[in-house]
Amino acid sequence: RSARGNWHAHARIGIMGGTFDPIHNGHLVAASEVAWVYDLDEVIFVPTGRPVFKLDKHVTNEEDRYLMTVIATASNPKFVVSRVDIDRPGVTYTIDTLRDIRARYPDAELFFITGADAVAEIMRWKDAERMFDIAHFVAVTRPGYSSKVPLPAGKVDMLEIPALAISSTDVRQRARNGEPVWYLVPDGVVQYIAKHGIYDEDAK
Ligand code: ATP
Ligand code: MG
Repeated sequence: RSARGNWHAHARIGIMGGTFDPIHNGHLVAASEVAWVYDLDEVIFVPTGRPVFKLDKHVTNEEDRYLMTVIATASNPKFVVSRVDIDRPGVTYTIDTLRDIRARYPDAELFFITGADAVAEIMRWKDAERMFDIAHFVAVTRPGYSSKVPLPAGKVDMLEIPALAISSTDVRQRARNGEPVWYLVPDGVVQYIAKHGIYDEDAK
């Protein structure tokens, strides 16, 4: 029996993939809202290893991204964090994430959560067609990105969520410039960033 009292034959598990450099409140609202609307039992946050679309960019080391994700999700009983992507060598492909999680939850119904910007690229993803066999896809609205991209018919749900115009890129820039990031990311993440100088100019 789920939180909303509905009975489901199988566990319903959300998967929220991301670089999480750093995790911010936009990610958390997206996961929370999909968990509510789709009656999920759990949402697994999966920080990427080497993100395939960011190979040309500097990305913070994976242990810091993992720990910030743990800190940000710790207070929510439904949120957990998985190391599958950061422990798998090489570039991260979502098809591998889905297969690894499917292997751990053979009977669960899986829901992959993505923002409107990431879903626009969905057909470029490796083995896109096979991903739809493993999980449902839920694309959430994101300020600044059109939700009217053409999607494969019946494969991806669009879900309108409360708009938070927050991006990790902006948070990194603010932290680097000494500008406030309070209330854009959870308090523990604000303090982790400051304590370890994660986005200081010389931290690369
Ligand atoms: P960056 O600016 O470094 O790309 P980001 O803010 O886009 O960071 P990602 O880790 O790239 O964060 O995103 C992970 C997932 O969360 C993606 O599917 C993305 O579309 C979604 N997402 C990120 N921010 C938001 C937001 N504010 N609202 C809704 N979805 C979001
Ligand atoms: Mg992004």
